[in-house]
Amino acid sequence: MPFWDKHIETLPRNELEDLQVKRLKDTVARCRKTVFYRNRLKSVDESQFSTPEDVSVIPFTTKDDLRANYDFGLVTVPREEIVRMHSSSGTTGKATVIFHTIKDIETWADLVARCIVMAGANRADVFQNIISYGMFTGGLGLHYGAERVGMLTIPSGVGNTKRQIQLMHDFNTTVFHATPSYILYVSEVMVREGFDPKEFDLRIGFVGAEPHSEQTRQRIEDILDINAFNSYGMSELNGPGVAFECEQKSGMHIWEDSYLLEVVNPDTCEVLAPGEEGELVVTTLNREAMPILRYRTGDLARIVDDGEECSCGRTHVRISRIKGRCDDMLIVKGVNMYPSQIEDVLMSFPEVATSYQIIMDRAGKKALDSLTVQVELYPKMFDGDLKKLRTLETDITRSVQDEIVVRPKIEFLEPGSLPRSEGKAVRVVDKRGEM
Ligand SMILES: [Zn+2]
Repeated sequence: MPFWDKHIETLPRNELEDLQVKRLKDTVARCRKTVFYRNRLKSVDESQFSTPEDVSVIPFTTKDDLRANYDFGLVTVPREEIVRMHSSSGTTGKATVIFHTIKDIETWADLVARCIVMAGANRADVFQNIISYGMFTGGLGLHYGAERVGMLTIPSGVGNTKRQIQLMHDFNTTVFHATPSYILYVSEVMVREGFDPKEFDLRIGFVGAEPHSEQTRQRIEDILDINAFNSYGMSELNGPGVAFECEQKSGMHIWEDSYLLEVVNPDTCEVLAPGEEGELVVTTLNREAMPILRYRTGDLARIVDDGEECSCGRTHVRISRIKGRCDDMLIVKGVNMYPSQIEDVLMSFPEVATSYQIIMDRAGKKALDSLTVQVELYPKMFDGDLKKLRTLETDITRSVQDEIVVRPKIEFLEPGSLPRSEGKAVRVVDKRGEM
């Protein structure tokens, strides 16, 4: 089984934790170079740290803290040493910006290279990076890692779907990186253009930048006849390369020599035990320009706690698939739910095509919430057999209700009816605030 950096990826737990403590101390000391952290860390004495859990005496850093320190407030190196800036993809409020030194870029590329090799790709592969370049970290992050591994890298970006397919075909692309919604769209266009999606040389897909369900992964694997690997990262933590699945696909290994992970209760901030679901809180352990302590990611997941080390041999802990962001949680008729729960149900029906949208509304005298799920079906379902459609409607309604308690209204659409995005999909529309 191939490794990019076998020594560090298989480091015994005690040595890995010693390394974390050492790097945590260095990181805290480095953070004190900024006014913000100097004030925050007044009561912290990192010289007393002896285990990674000692990180819990440090206050959290939030997205608002990053915004408040826009632009260079959290930078710990002289301006001349910064070579790259990225920005988070947040759609509300002021942007947050992240800076990197040359060494940071190299460390990042190395982490991504570990992920790529862990998923079974190598320098003989042709890699098509079907994701946004620019300030968004998904593009350049994977790009540098892929070149580090030595793959022929095609920086195709998103959009111009027919050209993407042409490139895949002409250059025998074997590995791609994309959001789940866009690669499913690409597969639809393949069919429309007369291709069989299985006839390409594709063998591995890196799928990330959007929470998605296990059912969606299986859908992508089946349609394209590939192995799809789940990727986790966010610009505040560099971008891709934070955590990634190995060939076992039983959770994503988070690179603990570079990231110190905690899972906390998002309401009480109490640190949770392995196996309990909560918000991921991450401290960077190996960053020069802009280290971040105990960053509240807003992402919900848990540490995989099956009592065993992964059979791939890597000692770094695994996190579950991201269930959603804390702020993705929907409350309909007083019930909490995540879009990923609905997606999981929909994608388990083979009649359902690749796109859907959840619409929440409030109407009528009593102003009750309503939940409508618009679902695209494959063309073969629109052959005039209404009984077949009604049966499917009943089955989907019941399955969704079993999962989320609330009874949805299901609307069927022909494929291509819902708006298509080329980056992240808009899965939820909330009309309840509109009058
Ligand atoms: Zn593994």
